Amino acid sequence: MIYRPENYSIKDQRMKPFIDPDEIWNFINTAKGDKSRIREIIKASLNKKRLSLEETAILLNADDPELIEEIKEGARTLKERVYGERIVLFAPLYVGDLCTNNCQYCGFRAENKGMKRITLSREELIGETTALIDQGHKRLILVYGEHPKYSADFIAETVKIVYSVKHDNGEIRRVNINAAPFDINGFRTIKDSGIGTFQIFQETYHEPTYQKVHLGGIKRNYDWRLTSLDRAQEAGIDDVGIGALFGLYDWRFEVLGLVRHVNHFEAVYKVGPHTISFPRIQNALSLNIDKDHLVKDDEFVRLVSILRLAVPYTGMILTAREPHHIRDQILRFGVSQIDGGTNLELGGYSKEKKDTQDLTMEQFQINDNRSLNEIMDELIKTGYIPSFCTACYRLGRTGEHFMEFSVPGFIKRFCSPNALLTLAEYLEDYAPTDTKENGYKLINQKISQLAQHQNVDKLKEKVQLVKNGKRDLYF
Ligand code: SAM
Ligand code: SF4
Repeated sequence: MIYRPENYSIKDQRMKPFIDPDEIWNFINTAKGDKSRIREIIKASLNKKRLSLEETAILLNADDPELIEEIKEGARTLKERVYGERIVLFAPLYVGDLCTNNCQYCGFRAENKGMKRITLSREELIGETTALIDQGHKRLILVYGEHPKYSADFIAETVKIVYSVKHDNGEIRRVNINAAPFDINGFRTIKDSGIGTFQIFQETYHEPTYQKVHLGGIKRNYDWRLTSLDRAQEAGIDDVGIGALFGLYDWRFEVLGLVRHVNHFEAVYKVGPHTISFPRIQNALSLNIDKDHLVKDDEFVRLVSILRLAVPYTGMILTAREPHHIRDQILRFGVSQIDGGTNLELGGYSKEKKDTQDLTMEQFQINDNRSLNEIMDELIKTGYIPSFCTACYRLGRTGEHFMEFSVPGFIKRFCSPNALLTLAEYLEDYAPTDTKENGYKLINQKISQLAQHQNVDKLKEKVQLVKNGKRDLYF
């Protein structure tokens, strides 16, 4: 039976509705823990145990400043222990801003007549991809409005175009997608084009708020969206990203909604989502939302720390929506991926960089305008290892994120060396002299820390090969 989004209901799928607002509110209203209980929960998380809804709610309800500090400290330790110093870099590439929906927070919404509507042509898409390759990018996320023009076939075609672009030593090695939900056949078509992660954000897990802010189009159907990544799984896309748009409803509810969504995936597919995103609402053309639930900076730091502790094995993505100083701070609490050199203007990467944003050409305002190299430079100086690694995905080591953590020593054997190799490529092909110097210092230092490790001689050899002009080497 083929389900259409217009009349879709989760109950018709013989699927248990997995978001129960009463259950979530009940936890928020009743789950309280004293100091020792909270320390116990942090300890469980540091032992890499995913937290239950109740345990997460206890952390959400902790409002004693001393305990909040302990939660943040726990997240920081967990991040160091589980993820090490790697930070994966990517860039968003907006392919088209046509949209039939009316999401009240989004500049692309259909009723926004002032928005310039652009869909990149094949040549423009090649131009944008080339400009991103020339910055040093290897991983992109392609973004689309929801529109009949952006069919599964169209999206698959754009993915293939991006993969086909080669420039100098560069190429895009992993294309992720952020687009509207499809039916199972649509997801299958897109999967076959060779995508990495398919991201779909629920925006808000609170259905009445969902109805209030989604005023037109297919996206109005909460159930169709909530179950979208289940259809993706059925289509064979086991690498999915979930997210909530913070600022629409109570942030504690959204955190528990995300954790419940993770539980659902783990229960049904035996593996959680690859990534969680937690965008905060930014200004956009004719932004039209209540301001009651906007999330303050200190709450944001808390929620990211709690999410980190709640789902120790899920990648966390932080974007240029956030300003430089918040990005620096949040990075320490468990973020594993960030974007760099971001430009949301359709066709903007191949134009000269502007100082100001034009909200009639962009989905929303961003607050970190640093170039990819500025970000690389800072990460290197701070001791993080910027990574463009795409090895697992290309070697067919699927469920890569799961493997990272479930196979003992996997990070040391594969992830860290591969991160260093992609960094060396970047330094050779795109970095100015001072970044290159600092970058190689970091590589040598990290190699000496890996010294007892079996791959270290091979790694040294491969770094030398990169210096000699070889590319795309990995373990
Ligand atoms: N049209 C697709 C969809 O709705 O799923 C693609 C989504 S959109 C291009 C990517 C994400 O940006 C949305 O899911 C939403 O969470 C986020 N977003 C939209 N408006 C925003 C705003 N004003 N500030 C911050 N994030 C926003
Ligand atoms: Fe369209 Fe997505 Fe924007 Fe909603 S969030 S108006 S669906 S582009």
